[in-house]
Amino acid sequence: MATITLDKLTKRFGRTEVIHGIDLAIADGEFVVFVGPSGCGKSTTLRMIAGLEEVSGGQIRIGDRVVNELDPKSRNIAMVFQNYAIYPHMTVRQNIGIGLYTSKLDKDEKARRVEEAAKLLGLEPFLERRPAALSGGQRQRVAMGRAMVRDPVAFLFDEPLSNLDAQLRAQMRIEIKALHQRLGSTIAYVTHDQVEAMTMADRIVVMRDGHILQQGRPMDIYSNPVDVFTARFIGTPS
Ligand code: ADP
Ligand code: MG
Repeated sequence: MATITLDKLTKRFGRTEVIHGIDLAIADGEFVVFVGPSGCGKSTTLRMIAGLEEVSGGQIRIGDRVVNELDPKSRNIAMVFQNYAIYPHMTVRQNIGIGLYTSKLDKDEKARRVEEAAKLLGLEPFLERRPAALSGGQRQRVAMGRAMVRDPVAFLFDEPLSNLDAQLRAQMRIEIKALHQRLGSTIAYVTHDQVEAMTMADRIVVMRDGHILQQGRPMDIYSNPVDVFTARFIGTPS
């Protein structure tokens, strides 16, 4: 796993600047949760880290390597979205294996990694099933398994649980957190769910209008929110 450093990171779409020079260091193994109103730049920040969006100014480093010019594959960062794409005609084994489709690993190593991921995610009994025979939470885990088999240096999650019902969300929160502890992964996680932020984060980063407004441990943000939005967000039960 690795540190992720953002140094005066800026993003413009055309003439409009939407990220205004963000500085942030995510430590090796740290679980950082981004919160903030819709449109404040959370997804754009994650997409720049993943290499899905070009950087307009500043620097992104993974470990001590500047990755601004690297394509997403060479960064080896796993991104898990809310609308995960799993293929209905393929089994769980095949759907996870897609993560290694372009990999040069040999066949046995690929198979071993798929099984290892399935085991970690509790999907071993379902390896030969198709998605139609899985629950929403199991499908979400298949998407995570596909990201895990590449042995990524970090995971980025963009509202991964927002399509799940409350009970599944609660269960997945616990599972993702447990996985983080087991793998020691570096994680950047976007959510609009205050329970997720409070229970999963080592550190919460509050964004507003393309800036970082406030950051700190969940309890510090909770007891000392910098403004009304943050107070409402952190303080209101879901
Ligand atoms: P969030 O994830 O916090 O809701 P986004 O990162 O998606 O916010 O968006 C940040 C800002 O950038 C918004 O004003 C949004 O409209 C704008 N934006 C995002 N993607 C694009 C794009 N591809 N083209 C133009 N503007 C965009
Ligand atoms: Mg978003």
